[in-house]
Amino acid sequence: MTGYSESEERQALRREVAKLAATYGREWFTEKARAGEKSTDLWMEVARNGYLGINIPEEYGGGGGGIGDIAAVCEELAAQGCPLLLMVVSPAICGTIIARYGTEEQKRRWLPGICDGTGTMAFAITEPDAGTNTHNISTHAHRDGHGWVLNGRKIYISGVDEAENVLVVARTEDAGTGRVRPVLFVVPTDAEGFEYRPIPMEIVSPELQFQVFLDDVRLPADALVGDPDTPDGGLVQLFAGLNPERIMAASFSTGLARCALDRAAAYAKERTVFQAPIGTHQAIAHPLAQSKIEVELARLMTQKAAALYDAGDDAGAGEAANMAKYAAAEAACDAADRAVQTHGGNGITQEYGMAGLLVATRAGRIAPVSREMILNYVAMHSLGLPKSY
Ligand SMILES: Cc1cc2nc3c(=O)[nH]c(=O)nc-3n(C[C@H](O)[C@H](O)[C@H](O)COP(=O)(O)OP(=O)(O)OC[C@H]3O[C@@H](n4cnc5c(N)ncnc54)[C@H](O)[C@@H]3O)c2cc1C
Repeated sequence: MTGYSESEERQALRREVAKLAATYGREWFTEKARAGEKSTDLWMEVARNGYLGINIPEEYGGGGGGIGDIAAVCEELAAQGCPLLLMVVSPAICGTIIARYGTEEQKRRWLPGICDGTGTMAFAITEPDAGTNTHNISTHAHRDGHGWVLNGRKIYISGVDEAENVLVVARTEDAGTGRVRPVLFVVPTDAEGFEYRPIPMEIVSPELQFQVFLDDVRLPADALVGDPDTPDGGLVQLFAGLNPERIMAASFSTGLARCALDRAAAYAKERTVFQAPIGTHQAIAHPLAQSKIEVELARLMTQKAAALYDAGDDAGAGEAANMAKYAAAEAACDAADRAVQTHGGNGITQEYGMAGLLVATRAGRIAPVSREMILNYVAMHSLGLPKSY
């Protein structure tokens, strides 16, 4: 970042990704989703161009860039109407955790596939009973000789059907103290005892969510990422994934918001029902202008969070990433709603595909971390208020 704008290199990256994504576009994306097909062609083209693993170190097949780069890729894809949710998960969450905490052997085994698109990795922490309270997860890992056995249930796990592996968060008890600690395992989706079932969602996307069932899944010792014998177990690994997750989720939202606003502005310039195009009426123009401001503010905070993270300031990035994720989700929900309103009845038709953006942006208020939990974070960490939960 130079001054108040991104580097020329980052801006060029944005232009290239936008050009590529425009050759696919919103119609292609929604047609794939409605036909029950996958967005694999785009995923693989993004990978072939070196964008998928742009944040992963070069020695493991990546581009050697930062979270700011992969967030720019994510935003530009969404802005062209092709949001790829698995970018948040595979290269940004899983790729970051493995690149930072995997052994040399683990990095060589998993990172190249994450970068070239052939070894996508999903991420599973959410459970039906624990929900937001991830300290309460019950997926359990116990030692079995040199290896491990995993049992539990996960819910809303994105892209399991497209993934080679899932990075699963479980808990284990210290044999001596009995203390419970989180642990992270890379579980192959074809492992015995690993099953998944799609959850019918109202989101128009080729990427689906799943229930995951782990029944006596046996794993070798080197499936574990990190050291379970440190006092906090896998907590430090888990935290390493949080800022990238939030920065990416924010970019996903601002991209969708830009997509909605571009379409709304184009429609408002064309559609005439009285003497002049509807965009002449301030009742149409002002809400869109308001959204434009809100989206740009959210983008700025997202870029700040990414710059702090890439500079190694994890604490500073934490506050900014939470604020960016909150601001982006709010801005995107409002932008999509205003864009639908601008379209009148056409806003709800499949032909115009605007209503699909309502649900897609709405999910950003809930996942990967809800707006309430971000408000809890800011109340506590930024304002010093007592913990409320
Ligand atoms: C499209 C989509 C994709 C997802 N992909 C993944 C994935 O790939 N991997 C994965 O692990 N998970 C995934 N999730 C799950 C997601 O992270 C959770 O849905 C989210 O964390 C909320 O958990 P919950 O749904 O159980 O809601 P709950 O925990 O039941 O919460 C319900 C409501 O109560 C509020 N609430 C709860 N506790 C508090 C509190 N202390 N203070 C204030 N409000 C509170 C919440 O904010 C929320 O509004 C995905 C979800 C969606 C919708």
